[in-house]
Amino acid sequence: MAALTKVETGVFDPRRFKEVLSAEAWAAFSEALDRAEETFKGRTIWNVNSTGKGGGVAEMLYSLLAYAMGAGVDARWRVIEGNPEFFRITKRVHNHLHGSPGDGGRLGPEEHAVYLDALEPNAEALAKLVRPRDIVILHDPQTAGLVAPMKEVADFVVWRCHVGLDVPNDIARNAWDFLDEHVDRADAHVFSRKEFVWLGLAPEKTVIIPPSIDAFSPKNQELERPSVEGILAASGLVEGGDPGLATFVRAGGQPGLVRRPADLVDGGAALAADARIVTQVSRWDRLKDPLGVMLGFADHIAPRTDAHLVLAGPAVEAISDDPEGAEVLEEVRAAHSRMPPDVRARILLAALPMDDSEENAAIVNALQRRSDVVVQKSIAEGFGLTVAEGMWKARPVVASRIGGIQDQIVDGVSGVLVSDPGALAEYGAAVTGLLLDPRRAESMGFEAMNRVRTEFLGPRHLLQYLELLSKLMQKATAS
Ligand code: UDP
Repeated sequence: MAALTKVETGVFDPRRFKEVLSAEAWAAFSEALDRAEETFKGRTIWNVNSTGKGGGVAEMLYSLLAYAMGAGVDARWRVIEGNPEFFRITKRVHNHLHGSPGDGGRLGPEEHAVYLDALEPNAEALAKLVRPRDIVILHDPQTAGLVAPMKEVADFVVWRCHVGLDVPNDIARNAWDFLDEHVDRADAHVFSRKEFVWLGLAPEKTVIIPPSIDAFSPKNQELERPSVEGILAASGLVEGGDPGLATFVRAGGQPGLVRRPADLVDGGAALAADARIVTQVSRWDRLKDPLGVMLGFADHIAPRTDAHLVLAGPAVEAISDDPEGAEVLEEVRAAHSRMPPDVRARILLAALPMDDSEENAAIVNALQRRSDVVVQKSIAEGFGLTVAEGMWKARPVVASRIGGIQDQIVDGVSGVLVSDPGALAEYGAAVTGLLLDPRRAESMGFEAMNRVRTEFLGPRHLLQYLELLSKLMQKATAS
């Protein structure tokens, strides 16, 4: 049985970033590009995670690796295989790392044995590919158990954790206990923010690298208004556009056309062409609080504005490492179906087609660009790429004051932070305030775009990896 899936990322020209970076940022990045190929000569950088599509990690890897390849660095991506029990346990670990009990199950020795058993064939398959001079970057809890086997075959092994909790609780510490004997053996640990660093890990091996978005991907590329309207018409979300104009540029540069409609779960119809729209895009995950977004909208936004809510996420059968998706979507659908008809009609539950991930991305792009307010009302969040995505599109974003969201939004300047994710009235007031004050919303959107330009684009991220890996290699040469 094949234990690894290869994900092709293509090769993108990193020099295109000259268009969007400041002169100073471009100078630093282009200098790094000049030396990247030489720095990694004779080495392959393997990235290993648990899904090739859906979610923030896959989103980032796709672009970062393609730009690395464009810079002459041999960067490759493999996805591990696991059985349903493995993914149930790793989802539990993921939830625990966010401080939440998830399905309430244990993380004990039996679970640990299931976890390691499932990883074994993956370790064997990787050992056949990885050569001694290579670098292996393992992403998230699903791959932590591969640190030791990879240390046996590669020069350097980095563990990159994309999740965390601002103030760790016992539940999170339970997940650390489950994994730290593995993580501890890596040459470096990368976290998205300093608050997420696990107690007990060697500080000299720990590095903070916040995530980033790709300004040119189908998800974030500039779209002209007819394309935005065309895409939203083709996907059945908003009326008025010409589906013939539902165009975007694929990652490889070829023209793309959105053809597949979204599935409007629990019924409903495309919104009117002039509808004002509040949107949250996320996986169907309780930590994204889709129920709170919907109930807060019904109680605190709908009565005071004419806006509609679009709650969008992936078609659930598509995400193999997220076994709870279908369950959560069903909970949201059931709550929606119990709402009074007038409010229900103002809320669309959209499961976006995932057959073609670039088409899916173009729909998300158009939806975010068309939104008057973008929301990310998560209960826990490692970073929240959807926040940066909304900000890059000059949208005012209302999001919870948690995790990496706090590093992105400067409250009141480049978005609004809602202090208590449980307080639906506060979230409702923030969204309503922006809907009623379009000038404030516009200036916030402008600030937001500039903040992403300086802090959260790929070049900053790639530079930090270059620095980390160069240091590891220098240290090894010196010792
Ligand atoms: N996403 C998507 N299609 C969907 C739902 C989500 O492309 O139907 C993307 C979203 O745009 C973002 C990523 O999945 O790029 C989610 O990343 P985030 O960091 O917000 O959350 P995660 O899923 O990693 O917890």
